[in-house]
Amino acid sequence: MARIVITGGAGFLGSHLTDRLLDRGDEVICVDNLVTGRRANIAHLGEHPGFTFVEQDVSEHLDVAGAVEAVLHFASPASPPAYLGLPIATLKVGSLGTHNALGLALAKGARFMVASTSEVYGDPLVHPQTEDYWGNVNPIGPRSCYDEAKRFSEAITMAYHRHHGLPVRIVRIFNTYGPRMRPDDGRVVSNFLVQALAGDPITIYGDGSQTRSFCYVDDEVRGFVALLDSDLVGPCNIGNPTEFTIAELAELVVEITGSSSEVVHRPLPQDDPTQRRPDITQARDRLGWEPTVELREGLARTAEYFRDHA
Ligand code: UDP
Repeated sequence: MARIVITGGAGFLGSHLTDRLLDRGDEVICVDNLVTGRRANIAHLGEHPGFTFVEQDVSEHLDVAGAVEAVLHFASPASPPAYLGLPIATLKVGSLGTHNALGLALAKGARFMVASTSEVYGDPLVHPQTEDYWGNVNPIGPRSCYDEAKRFSEAITMAYHRHHGLPVRIVRIFNTYGPRMRPDDGRVVSNFLVQALAGDPITIYGDGSQTRSFCYVDDEVRGFVALLDSDLVGPCNIGNPTEFTIAELAELVVEITGSSSEVVHRPLPQDDPTQRRPDITQARDRLGWEPTVELREGLARTAEYFRDHA
């Protein structure tokens, strides 16, 4: 049992991680400014004796009274439309927010984990992506507010580890989907499911030949906990290595929802990565982790959520 601070705990991933830690008996203090996180994601925890919610921007300040055993920094806008709309807040939470979260961990003698991203690989020239690949990021492009903030967050995390001896974990999160994604999140899985369920056109950006590898949220969060509990600093890729084109995803969504939606094409956003797939050898070998939920099954569960929360 531990007392754990999760920044971004009302977000998509943060709220699932919160549930998992509470289930195993940990106490969770969730800090979130609700800029993209939602009260609805934590509403079911209102009466839980181990749960506390603090509404606060972790880029400004982060302090928690009493003992803390772990600080998990998951706060950040994470979908491209969200971070493109909030570029400065995204840079601040990846830099100042990470600094504040590290400071709290250091002051409490706590373990620290940071949510990094496959975006640190940019538009990758190495495929699949191994953790030792340094990436291909445009430092001044529109996506740089997210990519470079996360790269900075990894750098300052390693500086605290080397300079202060802080125990740290860096998780590189690949495309994840599941219940509690915002319907207006703008990422491909939520867009396609919401469009298909409404009978609206399914919007493929570009020709749909770009690839992603989609991990169901329960698998992803199990990976976070395995990394947190391990002695591996990382960075560690956590994602599903089964790769799909976006056109294949659209077909699967139409099939699963039984939708009559047509597919339409829209311009490809600038610097959109052409391919992405994690090499998860390290997670398999060091954590004994691998995903178990296939895309078809995970999409069906997520479609159910969007049906109920239309
Ligand atoms: N995409 C798409 N239609 C949409 C939303 C996204 O074709 O309605 C594409 C997007 O251009 C990208 C891929 O789907 O190639 C994944 O996009 P997403 O925003 O989910 O996340 P990313 O992996 O780019 O961060």
